[in-house]
Amino acid sequence: MAKRKKDDEYRTFQDEWTEEFAFVERAGSAVCLMCNDKIASMKRSNVKRHFDTRHATFASKYPAGDSRKKACQELLSRVQASQQQLHVWTRQGDYNSASFAGSLAIVRNGKPFTDGEYAKTLMLDVANELFDDLPNKDKIIKRIQDMPLSARTVHDRTIMMAKQVEETQVKDINAAPFFSLALDESTDVSHLAQ
Ligand SMILES: [Zn+2]
Repeated sequence: MAKRKKDDEYRTFQDEWTEEFAFVERAGSAVCLMCNDKIASMKRSNVKRHFDTRHATFASKYPAGDSRKKACQELLSRVQASQQQLHVWTRQGDYNSASFAGSLAIVRNGKPFTDGEYAKTLMLDVANELFDDLPNKDKIIKRIQDMPLSARTVHDRTIMMAKQVEETQVKDINAAPFFSLALDESTDVSHLAQ
């Protein structure tokens, strides 16, 4: 009963959710550090449910307490480091974070680089209707128009992000005291083991 009461009382992000469930607050939502999913209702039970069901492996690998705390802190610092890298990139030339976000969405969904142009047209068409009653509609439309999202841009941004992922992996592997390799064997058409 006490727990339920507590849940109803707090409808704001609780700092301890970061160490308990790997969640952070971003723009008024609770955001999962592992899968980037947003939870709009700031309820402990919802955050916990997401963590327990979607990240059961992580949950059992790092039981609640010190080991969970440490693992979540590591996750957080990794996410912060990659955000800093994104800020560095977006400060250069015409790079802007929106075009990185767009490129990431395209490749995450397994779509071709050329879909950037289509996505931009779609955003413009929708914005034209959706923001029709807003005083700053023109400004919004201009921002979308100025966002670089050509096939070439999506390609370049993707390479930059992929390189950063690889660099982070190498850095993490070098920093780890141990690591394990999982190897599998399969056979080719002539039944030779590969
Ligand atoms: Zn998640």
